[in-house]
Amino acid sequence: MPNIDYNLKGCVFNIQRFSINDGPGIRTIVFLKGCPLRCKWCFNPESQSPEPAQGYGEMMTVEQVTEEIAKDQGHYRRSGGGITFSGGEALMQADFVEQICYVAQAHGWNTAIETTAYASPEAIKKVIPLIDHVMMDIKALPSDLHAEGTGVPNDKILENALLVNSLAKELIIRVPVIPEFNFSEQQIQYICRFVKYLDKVKEIHLLPYNTFGVSKYEELGREYALKNIQPLHAEDLEPLAETVRNFGFRCKIGG
Ligand code: SF4
Repeated sequence: MPNIDYNLKGCVFNIQRFSINDGPGIRTIVFLKGCPLRCKWCFNPESQSPEPAQGYGEMMTVEQVTEEIAKDQGHYRRSGGGITFSGGEALMQADFVEQICYVAQAHGWNTAIETTAYASPEAIKKVIPLIDHVMMDIKALPSDLHAEGTGVPNDKILENALLVNSLAKELIIRVPVIPEFNFSEQQIQYICRFVKYLDKVKEIHLLPYNTFGVSKYEELGREYALKNIQPLHAEDLEPLAETVRNFGFRCKIGG
């Protein structure tokens, strides 16, 4: 076991206990600040800047975060749960995540991450082998459509998907389904065709567009780009889920 740097600091904007949606069992979600994407529908806009700002985010040590996580370790043992790293993009703080994973290994806590994989290969190689359940987004193909919705092209993400696939123990692909962006049979087919190259993937999750984050934009003094778009419901995605299943993947609607 490597020496753990308990004093290393990371920027955290929320620690959410008792989650049952982001990996197996009962989990604590560690939301890390900083994201290189600017998705028009982002429901955590306060997570995007990498430093504490506008009352969001706090520099915390590995020791402080793992003390918080440890409060529920009885629940993890009984339910097969553990920690999920989310964001923002957790791989932007790969050193911090790595140290927390070492503490998790020492205690036998399960680890999961939600990632865009828009990160350096070094960050991916450092973190992904320490994670039990990787959940990676693929939002759209081709690249110009991806850039229109998220602010970045998708070539780095697709290349990194192959690397993540080679290192992950288990890989789930998640697709946020957004009207006027990727809410179409064609988009889901494009994504499934690409995912067929990732041999660790057995399951794809379709996440219906929601408007939970809209009020935060006002608080932050920012304009919400998808103001006139209505949320989607699980039943709206059933035909797309059928397409996913026809490609041979299990499909779940929701996170
Ligand atoms: S990847 Fe996630 S956190 Fe980053 S901008 Fe998109 S929705 Fe927001």
